[in-house]
Amino acid sequence: MKIVLLGAPGCGKGTHAQRLTTELGIPHVSTGDIFRQNLKEQTELGKQIAGILAKGDLVSDEITVAIVRDRLSRDDCKNGYILDGFPRSLVQAEALESFDKLDVVVNIDVDYDTIIKRISGRRFCPKCSGTFHVSHLTSDTCPVCGDTLIIRSDDREEAVRNRLEVYESTTKPLIDFYRQRGLLKTAKGDGTVEENYANILKVLK
Ligand code: ADP
Ligand code: ZN
Repeated sequence: MKIVLLGAPGCGKGTHAQRLTTELGIPHVSTGDIFRQNLKEQTELGKQIAGILAKGDLVSDEITVAIVRDRLSRDDCKNGYILDGFPRSLVQAEALESFDKLDVVVNIDVDYDTIIKRISGRRFCPKCSGTFHVSHLTSDTCPVCGDTLIIRSDDREEAVRNRLEVYESTTKPLIDFYRQRGLLKTAKGDGTVEENYANILKVLK
């Protein structure tokens, strides 16, 4: 199954995608993770996008589409994938449509107040890419791999506000785009992680 998870920053896309990838046995393709990996390894791309990510702006469609297209063309994506963080603009959605055919787009619906609360308590593991909320942590070490957790630079207040604006203007129109194509399903995302995940599984059945 070829799945896109859609939703505002902090809606839980990454958390649910990680579970789905195990449950469904298809790869999790996260553009955010790919970009952060490049930052960490200080690749050419990483140097080019560092400032963009820190501000919470979008990487150019041209760069992003090329990366995703290349990733989805690999063998492990033949039987399906979970796309998390892509597409984020109409240009990206149209590009994706031109080279692949999706089965379903799940829009995770969460109100902005919840999002701001979640992101402001979010901690990130630079080693295993896990994301955790302070309310579930007892120290600043990663419960999965033991590395020291950090606050992503784009989780700081200014950047969060900017990311929500970018979402409103550039990403939200994708809801209608996919509704018109009959691909859209909506899953409520403002309950507990378990409840939200169950909502996603329900719409995928
Ligand atoms: P979140 O979903 O929490 O906003 P992501 O990990 O998906 O975070 O993305 C982090 C950052 O990577 C974004 O703020 C943006 O700068 C960049 N990015 C990720 N996906 C895309 C995309 N499809 N197009 C452009 N930029 C992207
Ligand atoms: Zn970790």
